[in-house]
Amino acid sequence: MNSFELREFCKQETRRYMDMSNSKLGLNLPYPKVEFGIKNKRVKGLAFLGKNLIKYSDDLVRFTKEVVSNTCAHEVAHLVCYAKHGNNVKHHGEEWSSCLWTLGHKADKYFRGNPAPPTIVRTALGKVTIMPGVRTIEFD
Ligand SMILES: [Zn+2]
Repeated sequence: MNSFELREFCKQETRRYMDMSNSKLGLNLPYPKVEFGIKNKRVKGLAFLGKNLIKYSDDLVRFTKEVVSNTCAHEVAHLVCYAKHGNNVKHHGEEWSSCLWTLGHKADKYFRGNPAPPTIVRTALGKVTIMPGVRTIEFD
C-alpha cells in the first residue's frame, strides 16, 4: 500500500467495523471522523472518546493490511465500548474485549507478552494512557 491507499483502507475498515458493531449489537452509532498524522511512531492509532474521532498513524504504511485492519478494529472497539459503557470501565477491560470480539478479533492478540503496566501522563489535552507494547494510546 502507498500512503493514499493506506488512508483509504483505514477509512473503509473503520466504517466496516462500525457497521458490524451496529448490526451485531443493535446500535445506531454514527461513523467516526478519521484523521491522520500522529507524530509518535510508536502509536498506531488513537481513539478520542467522546469526540467520535479516530486518528491513525501514516507510519502504518510499513505494516501489513492485517495489522492495519487490527488497528482499526481496536480503535473502533474503544468508541463502541465508550458509547455503551461511558468512562466506567477499563480501557482494555472485559467490556472493550467483548466489543473487539464482536468485530472478530481477540484482545489477547494485542496484549500477550506485554506485562508492562500502562503509563499515565498529563498533557494539555488531558490524561493520556499509554499502553507500552500495544502502541496505542487513549484519551480519557
Ligand atoms: Zn486501546
